[in-house]
Amino acid sequence: MHKLNLANKFVACSYITCTHEYDIPQFLICNECQRVKEISIKVSTIKALKHNVEEAGFHLLSPQLEINCICDQCLNKAA
Ligand SMILES: [Zn+2]
Ligand SMILES: [Zn+2]
Repeated sequence: MHKLNLANKFVACSYITCTHEYDIPQFLICNECQRVKEISIKVSTIKALKHNVEEAGFHLLSPQLEINCICDQCLNKAA
């Protein structure tokens, strides 16, 4: 299970083991239908992000990203 702060809910992990040892889970959240998709990105990508954040004088509290999106379905509906 993962807790999403933006959407204020829990989602079941999309991966069987949910160890996330070599990757970091990221969540794409559809702004329209609230559908959530879990993807994973490489630890090195998060390290680069963390570096940028720290250069700005901030510190990541959680490497988990919740990205505000619109899904294919909703995009097609709007078109
Ligand atoms: Zn997971
Ligand atoms: Zn949607």
